[in-house]
Amino acid sequence: MLDFVRLEADLDQEERMIRDTAREFVDEHVKPDIGDHFEAGTFPTDLIPKMGELGFYAPNLEGYGSPNVSETAYGLLMQELEAGDSGLRSMASVQGALVMYPIRAYGSEAQKEEWLPKLGEGEAVGCFGLTEPEHGSNPSAMETRAERDSAEETSADPREPTNASRDGDGYVLNGSKTWITNSPIADVAVVWARDRSAENAPVRGFLVETDRDGVSTNKITEKLSLRASITGEIGLNDVRVPEENVLPGVSGMKGPLSCLTQARYGIAWGAVGAARDAFEEARQYAKDREQFGGPIARFQLQQDKLAEMATQITLAQLLAYRLAALKERGDMRPQHVSMAKRNNVRMAREQSRVAREILGGNGITTDYSPMRHLANMETVYTYEGTHDIHTLVLGEELTGIPAYE
Ligand code: FAD
Repeated sequence: MLDFVRLEADLDQEERMIRDTAREFVDEHVKPDIGDHFEAGTFPTDLIPKMGELGFYAPNLEGYGSPNVSETAYGLLMQELEAGDSGLRSMASVQGALVMYPIRAYGSEAQKEEWLPKLGEGEAVGCFGLTEPEHGSNPSAMETRAERDSAEETSADPREPTNASRDGDGYVLNGSKTWITNSPIADVAVVWARDRSAENAPVRGFLVETDRDGVSTNKITEKLSLRASITGEIGLNDVRVPEENVLPGVSGMKGPLSCLTQARYGIAWGAVGAARDAFEEARQYAKDREQFGGPIARFQLQQDKLAEMATQITLAQLLAYRLAALKERGDMRPQHVSMAKRNNVRMAREQSRVAREILGGNGITTDYSPMRHLANMETVYTYEGTHDIHTLVLGEELTGIPAYE
């Protein structure tokens, strides 16, 4: 397995154990039929509780059943899951970083006790509703709104406060979210909406059980990327939620953005796993496949491709390890994560394409992993902040001038 600069030597026992557990899990339970799931457009849902049993959901959180493992251990876990498939890592990212993290960081004691153990064990599935049909890269323009149950609508502008009294006993949610990983199989959705009962209508997080009246979660079926992952919409039509379903500890865009920083951290690691898996498949194939009387690995053109892939993967690994060190000591900033997510996903997208080339015609099938990883990377390049948006984040960091609002 590619580890050119011997990063493994610096891992402690727990980190090795977590990496090996995830690697064995992927070899035994994922690799044999992930190609079939990708073709069929299904997620292996039987693995959801198994992943919980193995502690794959947010093990870097503390308490409520989470063991608080190191950020490197968490990163290695994401790397091994994505070496299996981006759909698998997406499952763990959403459940852990986008659902358990906000409940842990901003939830009430009752919310933590109700949800964290069962989400951690994979007994319940969560999803994260931020993106809307008309608002993707700019989620702060969201239209989904929460009003006090007793409120009368006074304006069509979601930022405009209503005349509702603060002592209503709950909220009514209206709006629609789209491109939501796992919404069709979720038990609970973290829905971000503008609270029109408060001044300036801040964004708040609401825990919405998906069996509430007025919630619909249609599946999106036309995907050509991230096929082994379930994606859907969340329709909210006069959905009533009690006051105790609001995440009390956060208000404003900091809520969803802080969750995205956690998930993007995992993606920066995960993408390296996908690229490494594509590389290993290509390296083996180049040694086995004979043309012109010998293995294609003896041609300088193929060696050039393998040498470049190994170098790019190694550089991305180094960035991921450094990010872990910064996160561990509390120095990681969202801009650091932007650089790592942007670079490592682009790297994985480019290198899985080169791996596909090395496999010739066989490379376009689901019998081998590179084309599947390549197709998946189109999603990973786009979700959790597109490549362009992370470029703008870095541009602002480097110049002090924002090129977007
Ligand atoms: P747009 O924002 O419309 O962007 C279109 C293009 O314009 C992009 O290339 C973008 O980079 C570019 N662009 C936009 N603004 C600028 C600018 N200022 N300057 C330069 N270029 C710009 N969302 C969730 O909330 N929860 C989920 O679980 C989730 N899962 C997803 C799963 C899948 C399979 C996919 C595909 C998406 C998922 N998303 C999820 C949504 C994802 O985060 C959005 O697709 C992403 O934020 C981009 O939004 P958009 O698709 O509306 O594209």
